[in-house]
Amino acid sequence: MVLPLELVDETSFIEGKVLDTALFSLFFGGMIVIVLYNLSLLIFTRDLSYLLYVLYLLSAMFYVGTMSGFGQLVLWPGAPPFSARFYTLSATLCFLTPLLFVVRFLQVRKYGGWVWHITWVLGCYWITVLLAVLLVPEHAHWLFMEYVALPYCLISLAVTLTLWARGNVSARLFSIAWITLLGFTVIHLLALWGYMPLNRLTLHGQLVGMFIEFVLLSMALAERINLERDQRIAAQQLALETSRSLADEREQHLQAKQQALLIQQRANEELETRVVARTKALEDVRHGLELANAELLRLSSTDPLTHLANRRQFDQLLEDEVRRGRRNGAPLTVLLGDIDHFKRVNDSYGHPFGDECLRRVAAVLQQHCQRAGDLAARYGGEEFVITLPATGGPQAVLLAERMRQDVERLELDCDGERVSLTISFGVATLDPQAAASPLELLSAADRALYEAKRSGRNCVVEAADLGSDGATVFA
Ligand code: GH3
Ligand code: MG
Ligand code: MG
Repeated sequence: MVLPLELVDETSFIEGKVLDTALFSLFFGGMIVIVLYNLSLLIFTRDLSYLLYVLYLLSAMFYVGTMSGFGQLVLWPGAPPFSARFYTLSATLCFLTPLLFVVRFLQVRKYGGWVWHITWVLGCYWITVLLAVLLVPEHAHWLFMEYVALPYCLISLAVTLTLWARGNVSARLFSIAWITLLGFTVIHLLALWGYMPLNRLTLHGQLVGMFIEFVLLSMALAERINLERDQRIAAQQLALETSRSLADEREQHLQAKQQALLIQQRANEELETRVVARTKALEDVRHGLELANAELLRLSSTDPLTHLANRRQFDQLLEDEVRRGRRNGAPLTVLLGDIDHFKRVNDSYGHPFGDECLRRVAAVLQQHCQRAGDLAARYGGEEFVITLPATGGPQAVLLAERMRQDVERLELDCDGERVSLTISFGVATLDPQAAASPLELLSAADRALYEAKRSGRNCVVEAADLGSDGATVFA
């Protein structure tokens, strides 16, 4: 207990009292403002740090209220039984609550090492002291808190300075706040011990230091709010950028996919075009081949001079017609024609004219083969053969006769000289019942032709029934 004695007159005493009252009023008023401010922050943020800070503030107010006598005067008048221990209790709380606040707010545990261990030991010590003061106050002095207080303050300062050095931004204001309080406390103690003049400033210096400390701590809390907001904004920014870059990436991926699709589509189209072109080329080639084949077939089955069917085609057809005639029970007639004295024509007018004659005679024969199935062919040299399916002998003889007459009437001209031609025909008819072969049919026709030649040429001779040697001669 410090009781500084000073002799003053009444006016000065009252002035001093007024000044003290104003100072304490200012302190409590400021503290209440800080408490209310931090309580509101506690409600909004639900951060335990604010609760611990408010407890620290209330402890400090409790301590100052006890020390100054204002508590006894206003809050617990009449000295209740336990009030005698309020000094020890409030001092203990003033050591314990800032420790809890620091542990929570500066996240001391995260840093580990001696910082965390010493804080943990000191926390346990002050909790033990608190329990002792509350439960066994008469033995509390055995814990020597008066001797622990100063080292505790220095250790706490070392802890906050270490955290500051390790990059804890909030620890900076904590250290400054702590140094300020310690400085004012040391001045206060030095004044009490007589090393410094004891005046209003040195007497109440701790009060000022305490107030400055609380303002600084409030600033640290506000700074942390800013810091957290900045971190939150940065995190949001990062999330935004990440999502944006993700969207960009997705967009790029999509574009690449679309590009690939386009390329594939183009390739498909090109392929399709090529396939179509190739198919067309193949089709053209195939068509060309078909035409060439048809031409080849035509050439291989056509006589180049007269454009009638050649002997090959005739032979093939004759076999078919013989079979068909038998199947249908229809007769088949063959006319064998031979130009008379053709050698003379050649000899007299030349081979080219002979060719022309052959062409003209062929055209006449072709003219008379109008029915489907009728076929006129060049048999060889100046000989022609005509197949007449489903045609009987008399009908065929009539047709041959018409052909003969038409050949006779042909108007041929060689260098202004009129040339006439005649033709002889041998006619043979195959009865569907008869078992004769195509060769026998042709032989019969040939015999009839021979007969026609023998009879003086330019006539039609019908062979007798196949198998016999007789022949009918027509004019
Ligand atoms: P015949 O009345 O007995 O039939 O007497 P021919 O002179 O007509 O008969 P021959 O067999 O003696 O003579 C046939 C002639 O036909 C011989 C040949 O010069 C001629 N000849 C055969 N083929 C052709 C041809 O393609 N062109 C020409 N210009 N003449 C041909
Ligand atoms: Mg002949
Ligand atoms: Mg002849």
